[in-house]
Amino acid sequence: MACRKTAAQIREQVDKNLTCRAPGCCDPMTIFRGLGEDYCRYHQMHLSENGGMARPDRPYTFHKKWCCDWCGYNPKEDARFDHIQDPIRKDRGQRATLICDHIVRRADAQAMGWTNEQIDGPENIQTLCQLCDKVKSAEEDDWNKNVRLGEDYENS
Ligand SMILES: [Zn+2]
Ligand SMILES: [Zn+2]
Repeated sequence: MACRKTAAQIREQVDKNLTCRAPGCCDPMTIFRGLGEDYCRYHQMHLSENGGMARPDRPYTFHKKWCCDWCGYNPKEDARFDHIQDPIRKDRGQRATLICDHIVRRADAQAMGWTNEQIDGPENIQTLCQLCDKVKSAEEDDWNKNVRLGEDYENS
């Protein structure tokens, strides 16, 4: 099912020393075509469509974990999902309970002069369950400021 790139493409990647576009990853680009083809093989396989947590258009989602950083909630251990037989639907539902949150939100970080690598880097990304995310929103008065709501909702 995985289809290799052409020999010419692979040679060009090697010649130009092209590396994975995931933040902080220096591994060579995958030789397989299709979704995530500008990532290394490891990160390509971590895209949600390939069974992982991340979205190709939001590289910071590679830092997403299977557990809430605030309360420890882990949807894989949540019995409410037990009766769902289809593993793909189950996985999708479980994954959607968690979101990838910027600790310092993008606009604030940009105002402080942070680079995109810093903004999307592992130190600035935490995994929150939907409930803790709402607590954070309430703490930071997001509804009033009309910010952040939306940006981090990378779940599908
Ligand atoms: Zn990579
Ligand atoms: Zn939580």
